[in-house]
Amino acid sequence: MFGDALLALAYPQVCVICGRSVEQRRFGVACESCWKETRIFTDEDEICLKCESTGPPACGRCEVLAFTAARAVGVYKDALRESALMLKRRANVPRHVEQLLVAAAKPLSLSTRVVPVPLHPKRLKTRGFNQASIVAETVSKALELALDEVSLVRVSSPEKYRAGLDVKGRRDTVAGAFEVSHPRLVTGEDILLVDDVFTTGATVSACAEVLLAAGAKSVFVLTLARA
Ligand SMILES: [Zn+2]
Ligand SMILES: [Zn+2]
Repeated sequence: MFGDALLALAYPQVCVICGRSVEQRRFGVACESCWKETRIFTDEDEICLKCESTGPPACGRCEVLAFTAARAVGVYKDALRESALMLKRRANVPRHVEQLLVAAAKPLSLSTRVVPVPLHPKRLKTRGFNQASIVAETVSKALELALDEVSLVRVSSPEKYRAGLDVKGRRDTVAGAFEVSHPRLVTGEDILLVDDVFTTGATVSACAEVLLAAGAKSVFVLTLARA
């Protein structure tokens, strides 16, 4: 009992997955051994180069998506899932997550402008911050790229979101949800579009569509995790 109390004092953080202590603050909500269990994408992974689904470099299912390619740190499970969930509550990217993000973003560092997927102003007000903006800010600082939180805006009401929709359903839901309010800022730019989680790609594709229509040269997508 006494030993546990001492440990709790020495290590204020408890791993949300296994309940053991998080040895270093940089690991965030999960301990080092839970991070080791978490699937992080590497060059050896057999995944689609565009949407990162399992399969050949060109899976064929993602042709309808408007962006050029997507990169995620890894699979939306274990420590990455917990980190993504924590990011909705706390506007902070732990050092380890930052390093993983930067490694995943390296092939996309030819981008000229980092743009987060925006929240609807109503939802931003209730949550207090946009988790995609926190990720975008971290990446833009690390890669020394301009951060642009004004060009892309979400115009449709957040009530329109429904869980459990397929790609088509999701595409219909997000169609017309985004607008570019400052086309001059994105014209001719290679955009690095950032979100927390990539699910069907419908949201980032809707963003990419309007960015490209506004004159962006290319749109690459970076997310913390791929569901
Ligand atoms: Zn753990
Ligand atoms: Zn694909």
